[in-house]
Amino acid sequence: MNEALDDGIEARVLLVIAAAIECSVEDVTPNVPLLGGLGAESLDLLDIAFRLEAEFRIRMPRLNVMQRAEEHFGRDKLMRNGVLTDLGLEIVRATMPEADPDRIRPGLRAAELGTLLTAQTFVRVVRRMLEAKKKALAVCPHCPPQRGCTPVESSTTLEATGSLCATIIPFPAGDDVLLEDLMMASRP
Ligand SMILES: [Zn+2]
Repeated sequence: MNEALDDGIEARVLLVIAAAIECSVEDVTPNVPLLGGLGAESLDLLDIAFRLEAEFRIRMPRLNVMQRAEEHFGRDKLMRNGVLTDLGLEIVRATMPEADPDRIRPGLRAAELGTLLTAQTFVRVVRRMLEAKKKALAVCPHCPPQRGCTPVESSTTLEATGSLCATIIPFPAGDDVLLEDLMMASRP
């Protein structure tokens, strides 16, 4: 059953992207770059993220991979004069497995990261955030498990409420989840 649900996710993401950039869904193939290839602009990426949040009821990340990694590694280690260092390139490779590997090479500028984005990137992030939300809402984080308090999703906001304690449980934030994944991946 999960497999069948999973299979629907890519199709739904492609539909959302087509609606946001006002193109035919046939043109949105999973690996075509959204900027340049499909004629999307930076603002469209934000629009896509908002629409995906509404469609899947998740909180999408707002930062790109280098902006997230800066917090952990420090900017100087990731780029020099806007050009990614070896570590920066390694992080992009590790965290964007769907990106064209030929484009992740010395000389890549942080400002060019957006051009690596494809529909597949959004599919990956949506899947990851659905998984994180499922885990976060499995049990109420505020109550002992034996109390039997279960998170109930709001139908309007991106949060849940404990069925017994009525405490607000925000859905996991995209940037937090992806930064945690990044730190796990880079742990020696
Ligand atoms: Zn509770």
